[in-house]
Amino acid sequence: MEFKYDIRDLKFILKEWLPAQEVFACDRFKENFSIDDVDMLLNEGYKVSREVVNPINAPGDKIGVKFEKGEVTPVPGFKEAYQFLQQNGWGSSSECIKVETGMPLILYKANAEINTAACPALTSCVKLTSGAANLILRFGTQKDQDIFIPKMLEGYWQGTMCLTEPDFGSDTGDIITRSYPTEDPRIYEIKGTKMFITAGDQGTCENTIHLVLARPEGGAAGSPGIGLYIVPKYWVNEDGSMGKFNDVTTVGVEHKMGLHAQATALLNFGDDDNCRGIMLGPAPDAKGFSQGLSMMFHMMNESRIGTGHNANTQGAAAYYFASQFATERIQGRPFGIKNAQRVAIIKHEDIRRMLLDMKAHVEGIRAMIFKGFYYLDIENNSSDKEKAKKYASFVEILTPLVKCYGSEASLGVIAQAIQVLGGVGYTQEYPVEQYLRDSKILTIWEGTSFIHANDLIGRKMRMKDGAPFVAWMAYIKEFIDANMNAAGFEREMKNLAQGYQALDDVKKTYDAWYNNFEAKRQLIPLYAIRALFVCAQVYVAMCLMDQALIAAKKVAPLKAGDADFTYYKGKIAAARYYLNNILPGASTMAALIKSEEDTVLTCPEESLVVS
Ligand SMILES: Cc1cc2nc3c(=O)[nH]c(=O)nc-3n(C[C@H](O)[C@H](O)[C@H](O)COP(=O)(O)OP(=O)(O)OC[C@H]3O[C@@H](n4cnc5c(N)ncnc54)[C@H](O)[C@@H]3O)c2cc1C
Repeated sequence: MEFKYDIRDLKFILKEWLPAQEVFACDRFKENFSIDDVDMLLNEGYKVSREVVNPINAPGDKIGVKFEKGEVTPVPGFKEAYQFLQQNGWGSSSECIKVETGMPLILYKANAEINTAACPALTSCVKLTSGAANLILRFGTQKDQDIFIPKMLEGYWQGTMCLTEPDFGSDTGDIITRSYPTEDPRIYEIKGTKMFITAGDQGTCENTIHLVLARPEGGAAGSPGIGLYIVPKYWVNEDGSMGKFNDVTTVGVEHKMGLHAQATALLNFGDDDNCRGIMLGPAPDAKGFSQGLSMMFHMMNESRIGTGHNANTQGAAAYYFASQFATERIQGRPFGIKNAQRVAIIKHEDIRRMLLDMKAHVEGIRAMIFKGFYYLDIENNSSDKEKAKKYASFVEILTPLVKCYGSEASLGVIAQAIQVLGGVGYTQEYPVEQYLRDSKILTIWEGTSFIHANDLIGRKMRMKDGAPFVAWMAYIKEFIDANMNAAGFEREMKNLAQGYQALDDVKKTYDAWYNNFEAKRQLIPLYAIRALFVCAQVYVAMCLMDQALIAAKKVAPLKAGDADFTYYKGKIAAARYYLNNILPGASTMAALIKSEEDTVLTCPEESLVVS
């Protein structure tokens, strides 16, 4: 079966749901983009994903990158596809800040979504280049920008982010890679090992530009002591040409469960004491404080939303595949009807349940993600500073929800797609098992699910005395108050109001626990992921309901057979399913959290270990 993607839903988001006109009207975009470009760009982007990107996905998985004698060989076609995206406006030049050709994120990400569904191993290399370039654009000097950005945007140089070390993954603040000052105040010598670096040596580009966290000699302990450096594999001369090897050695690439077309590298910096990096931001102050980690957070936050988005694309691709398969596979007879003919499995209630469950999750999480992109567009480009500030804090709250809930839920969606296919879903003859293997990493990299749950309950709920979180909750409450009596959706709105109550209960429980910290300390992390799920499910439900109200108006004058009739009916069904079948679980979870059930804590540690 050919690669298919639901670009109708992306068009709905941009043209019928989000106030996209507000974004297109911003000074940065108004001359170059308009709502009228949406159809053309998505249709064209879909063609690129089918003709250029998807053809390398399955072969790339089977062949995998090779590492021999210190050299990485990319999979056939990877380099050409990477450069095609970068050189034709489907990559970093459209995604990066400040760049003249930059697209609104809502528009860029709609296209990036199709390409990511088509080959996630490829698009995360593009995403990393955009993230690294954005850091240089934000914090680099004009000279840094002049010598690095053009080659990165044109696809000749790959960007990376280097945080993880063999002994420090989640504990980023403790890293031991060191930087030593030289006579030039912006140039430092770099020494250390970075592990698991995506595209760390992809073999696709002539140079790799690493954005590396390292602790300056004498720097403060922990996160405040960390600096950020541009460390090219080959030094870049004043005129932007490539210079000598910069002592960044690829020690190996990982043998992974998925994403075989992407090199995850173990890198040594400065084995021969000859590795130099260009410091971004100010030099360490008198107390040894640097701003490296806070600068790197810009790239990490982009990647975190990108990771949740990436996960949802894999869930979406798996769902579309399963839905086509379900119309073709003949098996079984309708339940309880004697002497009936065998039917396509989509006729079976349980298959329909799984398909609607997948659809509701994929469309709901996509809606949450695109709300986030819309907020980012306004934050970064609007002249309405008050709104930009409010939306910036909404993005902060949505980031852990998108990363954690998006990546965890997509695994369930893909597993269901395999279930719909039955035995063949488990084989390599069909693409869905690859989606599952390519996706599992998304609950781990860019911070594991727990790291994001901890960020939500420890920081996002409590920042600025909790005011942004309260404003975010008020936004949901306003939606509920405005639509409580929406005709035909009484049951769904009642469930949404109960979901909101669950969210409020979770918030109050966490406030109480933090106010009684010593006594309740262990409950806080114990329930963090589950608290995040409650927040995410309520927000996703609100987005789906909002979309369903639009769909209900649009479908009213249509009749079966009209264009879009089934699309709008499906939108309404997705909302009804999620609000009636999934969201009630948030209330059960909130009650469990409030009950402080603590078996996990009282169970002896030894009982958890198989000896
Ligand atoms: C394919 C791949 C690509 C990657 N790409 C990059 C990259 O490009 N750049 C980069 O810098 N890194 C990258 N990483 C590294 C990735 O970000 C880390 O693996 C991840 O952050 C987790 O760190 P860890 O593996 O050391 O696990 P650990 O930190 O050892 O965590 C192990 C488990 O313990 C839990 N845990 C840890 N601390 C706590 C705590 N305080 N409380 C509760 N639970 C805790 C974690 O949630 C996890 O479940 C990549 C990894 C892989 C596998």
